[in-house]
Amino acid sequence: MTQIIDGVAVAKRLRQELAAQVTAKKLAPGLAVVLVGEDPASQVYVRNKSRAAEEVGIKSQTHRLSAETTQEQLLELIDQLNNDENIHGILVQLPLPQQIDTQTIIAAVDPDKDVDGFHPVNAGRLSLGLPGFVPCTPQGCMILLREALPDLSGKRALVLGRSNIVGKPVAQLLLQANCTVTIAHSRTKDLPDECRRADILIAAIGKPEFVRGDWIKEGAVVIDVGINRIAAASPEGKSKLVGDVEFATAQARAAAITPVPGGVGPMTIACLLKNTVESATRSAAK
Ligand code: NDP
Repeated sequence: MTQIIDGVAVAKRLRQELAAQVTAKKLAPGLAVVLVGEDPASQVYVRNKSRAAEEVGIKSQTHRLSAETTQEQLLELIDQLNNDENIHGILVQLPLPQQIDTQTIIAAVDPDKDVDGFHPVNAGRLSLGLPGFVPCTPQGCMILLREALPDLSGKRALVLGRSNIVGKPVAQLLLQANCTVTIAHSRTKDLPDECRRADILIAAIGKPEFVRGDWIKEGAVVIDVGINRIAAASPEGKSKLVGDVEFATAQARAAAITPVPGGVGPMTIACLLKNTVESATRSAAK
């Protein structure tokens, strides 16, 4: 029977482990979340992050800045947080308003407080196999993957999508786990064939139910990162969230698959908390 990998349960377990660590090591982790503008989706994410942080004993502070904030003002706040010894993690919620250059802001965060793992130094550390902060969604994908397949060595993995926040880092992690990794993208030829060869398929393209069930190799493990809101079938119905994989048909062929919602999504926040606790642990050891 196909295993439905329960991201809600695994994220809860991880949060409990983190809460236990915070208590046992007498840590006082601090997370600063910076939100610029009023993007409604970002508001929801930030609220959820703060709530989850409190639950594991992380003190979280949210800095809400207006949509008109200048790059200099934001850099000033980041500098202040970089120098605040009670803050172990800094997260700048993306997307940022257009007057602010995202890469400049990411690069301004102290790499040792970059719990999102987006700083070029941490991206470099990941590609060199050195310790650093690993981006949260890819980390979550690996934890869920290992729930279904503890030994990844020698498996053929296909990563669908090559973004800096999901596709590329997850490919690095699969490589570190001794998988044979292919990265596919919008210019890839014969995508269904590439998929059919994969023992592991990580889908991160942002296209609702793009990956058809018959592209899935029998017995493969499928991690669906996509979060896509689609319109209701009828005018009075509600819109719903779907992944990048056609779940019903893929489930019939896969050995294990993550659902959307309830798969990778909850793991992203849990891994952010994990990075923050790790940062506080390192700082306590200094
Ligand atoms: P991006 O838009 O940054 O990247 C999408 C990637 O998909 C690109 O590499 C693009 O290729 C590729 N792609 C697009 N269309 C196709 C196609 N038709 N065939 C093959 N490849 C294609 O997306 P993200 O990586 O930021 O996010 C991907 C999905 O994951 C989204 O649904 C997002 O909402 C979700 N997400 C979920 C998170 C979670 O917590 N669960 C966290 C982050 C993202 P190319 O490079 O050639 O343009």
